[in-house]
Amino acid sequence: MKKHNFYAGPSILSQYTIKNTADAIIDFADMGLSILEISHRSKQFQAVVDEAVALVKELLEVPEGYSVLFLGGGASLQFAMAPMNFLNTKAAYLDTGVWASKAIKEAKLFGEVDVVASGKDTKYTVIPTDWIVPADVDYFHYTSNNTIYGTEIRKDPEVPVPMICDMSSDIFSRPVDVSKYDLIYAGAQKNLAPSGVTICIVKDAALGKVSRVIPTMLKYKTHVDKGSMFNTPPVLPIFAALQTLKYYKSLGGIREIEKMDIAKAERLYEAIDTSKMFVATVQDKASRSIMNVCFVMKPEYAEFEKDFIDFATSKGMMGIKGHRDVGGFRASLYNALPMESVDALVECMREFESLH
Ligand SMILES: *Cc1c(COP(=O)(O)O)cnc(C)c1O
Repeated sequence: MKKHNFYAGPSILSQYTIKNTADAIIDFADMGLSILEISHRSKQFQAVVDEAVALVKELLEVPEGYSVLFLGGGASLQFAMAPMNFLNTKAAYLDTGVWASKAIKEAKLFGEVDVVASGKDTKYTVIPTDWIVPADVDYFHYTSNNTIYGTEIRKDPEVPVPMICDMSSDIFSRPVDVSKYDLIYAGAQKNLAPSGVTICIVKDAALGKVSRVIPTMLKYKTHVDKGSMFNTPPVLPIFAALQTLKYYKSLGGIREIEKMDIAKAERLYEAIDTSKMFVATVQDKASRSIMNVCFVMKPEYAEFEKDFIDFATSKGMMGIKGHRDVGGFRASLYNALPMESVDALVECMREFESLH
């Protein structure tokens, strides 16, 4: 049976990525060796890093003066590394969910944190819109897509200071004005590669402005100076990331991908909004994520929740159980997921409804 992959992360990758990565595990770049057993300083792997950096810059139209890094430690390490390198006295943060809260907690270790607004009182189902970033903070941090709650900020905010953004679960799904950011970071396992690598896009001129002592490995400058090769980088995830980037380019780039992503999300939200049985947890349309669609059973059908998971799984729908903090269901529609899978899920929901 064909499987449809709705996992939230690690999550679906393009068949192009998986096939080429599998081939490189057997024989990388005609070296007669696996990519798992070659030097990260070989010219063949250096070419992989160079091409991946160039493609990130091309796809996201990264301006001059920015470096693209491939680091370890996940997006979670960036929660601490970002304030360590950019927070002098005070920073502003927007609290839109679990990941944003974790970033706030780490920032507080390094200075004053002004939480400009929080979605907590709406259980994070709405992105707060009524907030002001003071002009005297070092930066403004936000999470563009809240993977757990299915809310998203799809437009670069207008604020009087440089921004830092956790784009882990929606990078490469919309054009970004990179020039407004000192740092963009994203764990790769949602829209790019297997887990193990974090992509960072950092403004070179914004580095070196804090006075604290920073361990070598936690300084962006270290990795900028060495082109992500200060120590052994995550070789295989970087190779896989390159395959995905090539695939994105072949689709026509970010604007084309965004159109497909919007079409997929619209189809699923439409099916949920017109259903007798299901209801979306995010009712505010402006806050809805096009990457993670969260929904639950209407109260009168609540008893069928587990049955639906079993039914959907039996039809090949994988990973639609909602996050434990939200319950219900979550369908993640990352870039690599085809419309065909959304259609299959909608069909499966209709069939289940007609049976009850
Ligand atoms: C998954 C996720 C993270 C955590 O990423 P790790 O690489 O596991 O540290 C952080 N932020 C967002 C928005 C995520 O979706």
